[in-house]
Amino acid sequence: MAGHWRVATVAAHRPETPTARTLVLRVPDWPGHLAGQHVDVRLTAEDGYTAQRSYSLAAPAAGDLIEVTVQRVPDGEVSPYLVEVADVGDQIEIRGPLGGWFVWRPDDPTPVVLVAGGAGIVPLMSMVRTRRMARAKALFRLLYSLRSPAERYYSTELGSHQAGDGGLDVFLAYTREAPEEVTRPPHRLALSEINTHGLPPDFAPTCFVCGPTGFVESAANALVALGHDPRRIKTERFGPSGGRP
Ligand SMILES: Cc1cc2nc3c(=O)[nH]c(=O)nc-3n(C[C@H](O)[C@H](O)[C@H](O)COP(=O)(O)OP(=O)(O)OC[C@H]3O[C@@H](n4cnc5c(N)ncnc54)[C@H](O)[C@@H]3O)c2cc1C
Repeated sequence: MAGHWRVATVAAHRPETPTARTLVLRVPDWPGHLAGQHVDVRLTAEDGYTAQRSYSLAAPAAGDLIEVTVQRVPDGEVSPYLVEVADVGDQIEIRGPLGGWFVWRPDDPTPVVLVAGGAGIVPLMSMVRTRRMARAKALFRLLYSLRSPAERYYSTELGSHQAGDGGLDVFLAYTREAPEEVTRPPHRLALSEINTHGLPPDFAPTCFVCGPTGFVESAANALVALGHDPRRIKTERFGPSGGRP
């Protein structure tokens, strides 16, 4: 059952950026999940105080191993623990998989536009990885808005062509600082770029938009302005805008 709490054990972790890391969690009897779903994580302090937050699943399950990638929010209750403190062997409680709307199924041939802001790349990466693993052929366009090269998640995997990624195009929109070899001056993801690097409304793509609240609203509005059917635009908000990625 997705609704009950399970004990997960940290099996491994790896840094994605100086302020974000991926945790591999072992969850006995994990039922499997769809790309785009998330889990709730619950931490309990020694005095019994609990704090609970949602984290997207970052990859397809490998047996009873699942992955989440967490961005440290300064002064946050939960994310600093997951990014800086949790270690191999530690146990946390999780509930899931959760969410049935913001999901992509590999047997769906509909073209897909993915628009990520900052940590919003996490569930979209799960879709990219699921597509690769299933050798699915749906056209994928990924637009990833991020502040600087140092904040780039999954850089090896998204930076080079991976077997099974034919039909996937990736566009990186640096907003504050770009690598030297990138000629695009840093600025926010523009409507014209979503037009150029996304897919035309005629293709009737499903659009998945994920990130901080302000980013999601402006990207979804841009897609509508470009003529995409609002019913095909699926959004997931990670929380306060906290400054745009
Ligand atoms: C469906 C869903 C999936 C999510 N998936 C992920 C994920 O894959 N990776 C991930 O890192 N986060 C994800 N989040 C966000 C996550 O649930 C937490 O909100 C985040 O980790 C902050 O929690 P915290 O306890 O550290 O901070 P809090 O103690 O809740 O907040 C501390 C301060 O930071 C501000 N704040 C809270 N959340 C954010 C935020 N997201 N951005 C900027 N400022 C914030 C608060 O307003 C407050 O001032 C997801 C959220 C949802 C709803």
